Amino acid sequence: MTVFDLLLHGGTVVDGTGSPGRRADVGVLGDRILAIDDLSAVDTGGVTHVIDATGLVVTPGFVDPHGHSDGSLFVDGGLVSHLLQGYTTQLSGNCGETLAPITDAGREIIALALRPNQLVARWRTFGEYLDAVAEERLGLNVAFLVGQGTIRGSVMGSEAGAATEDERRAMLREVDAALDAGAFGLSSGLIYAPGIHAAADELVALVTTAARRGGLYATHMRNESAGLFESLEESIATARSARDNGADGVRLQVSHLKCGARAVWGRAGEAIAVLEAARADGLDVAADQYPYTAAATTLATILPPSLLALGVEDCVAALSDHEARNRVVAEMKQGISGWENVATDPGWEGLRISFAPSHPDWAGRSLADLGEEMDVDPAELAMDALIDDQLDVSVVIDCMDETDVQAIMAVPWIAVCTDAQARRPGHPILDAGRPHPRTYGSTARVLGTYVRERGALALETAVAKLTGVPAARLGLRDRGVLREGAFADLVAFDPAAVADDATYEQPSRHPIGIEHVVVNGRPAVRAGQETGERAGVLLRRTG
Ligand SMILES: [Zn+2]
Repeated sequence: MTVFDLLLHGGTVVDGTGSPGRRADVGVLGDRILAIDDLSAVDTGGVTHVIDATGLVVTPGFVDPHGHSDGSLFVDGGLVSHLLQGYTTQLSGNCGETLAPITDAGREIIALALRPNQLVARWRTFGEYLDAVAEERLGLNVAFLVGQGTIRGSVMGSEAGAATEDERRAMLREVDAALDAGAFGLSSGLIYAPGIHAAADELVALVTTAARRGGLYATHMRNESAGLFESLEESIATARSARDNGADGVRLQVSHLKCGARAVWGRAGEAIAVLEAARADGLDVAADQYPYTAAATTLATILPPSLLALGVEDCVAALSDHEARNRVVAEMKQGISGWENVATDPGWEGLRISFAPSHPDWAGRSLADLGEEMDVDPAELAMDALIDDQLDVSVVIDCMDETDVQAIMAVPWIAVCTDAQARRPGHPILDAGRPHPRTYGSTARVLGTYVRERGALALETAVAKLTGVPAARLGLRDRGVLREGAFADLVAFDPAAVADDATYEQPSRHPIGIEHVVVNGRPAVRAGQETGERAGVLLRRTG
């Protein structure tokens, strides 16, 4: 009789493909699933870990296709806010911003990215960064994209101009080097400096290089508000151009798809239709989404691109200049073609500080509210906050409509993501401020609110959107689907109880009902508690 190292018995297996659940036990040997069957005849005497999953749904470990734990994993490799949501794999390096490569030209930009987690980089190349990650004791598996913005910054600094032929070649070498080292592809964040300055053909060249080698292209689009449809077209055109350049298998991932301003509320169906049309045309396009009506980002996105092109120090200096400030306020009011300007939609009442290091008491309060209390124009207050913390201020933005969130949620091929860095409640660095509740609650919110309470989608569909769909996007062959021979990344949750507990007011709360999590065959969460196992590994893309 076969002996297992770990046996999960009595649960309903939902395998991550979208197929209906079925009663089955799961037997694990080493880091692999050995059997999915009726294993009630197995003598459990020799099994190290026997987990009773009666009444629970057993699924593949959840895969977060859009995360930002690039820095936080060095503060705490446990990645507990993700682990206790059932995540066993997270893809970071999104939105164009990574912590490598580091060069003299890009040092100031990287310093801004390192600051929230108080890190000192002990790497320069992307390969050295991945090696540093691999040395950490990780609670779950991690994988990375390389950021287009970071690459541009490493070659050109904050400069806004077009890249010269030499500069472009240098950027392409960095993409190649990152993919050689094991990056899963390229990300862009086209609202952030310096990535925002890239011209279309520069972007196409980078995407082509990544895609020729099978890398994913994930984009935080230039505009998710009034310019949503132009941005969808731009993203699709970029992928098409890469295909025309010989990257036949180019794969586009639209990051955190949303209708992010009143100007486009109610148009989620049209946005989905645009992507469906590209898919029908043979382009490999997909998307992901976090299940909330608020976004979260850096307050510096209120600044016009011309100001961000100055770099951090000079930008802060310019913000202290009276005339420059007046010009910024005027540009915010008028708007600039193509620029996503959250200062006008949703406006200051919809912009809440999540963390301003110099003003810890501002966390959770809107700029409108703070401005009123201090009798200061919110625009002036925002610029002062940016000066005080050298642009390192984060905000939560109320910018979506629930109808759109739910319409996107119902689409089977759109994965669920967190768009968050992993945190830990009570930790001096990782629990600073008031982060977006998606950090702690995304998976449970989908399973509790959208599946059980609202019936917005079937449980099997939701599980696939948390597992098989994102795993396929990353090209993970042996994860994301429960089958014999696959890696033993598993979750067992209570479908009747699973719920997010994290709110905008009190975000640092783990979900309830996610009982057991197994990472690479080892029990990382038992009865909703961390076991202390650190069984996660760095995944490097191969082939
Ligand atoms: Zn983003």
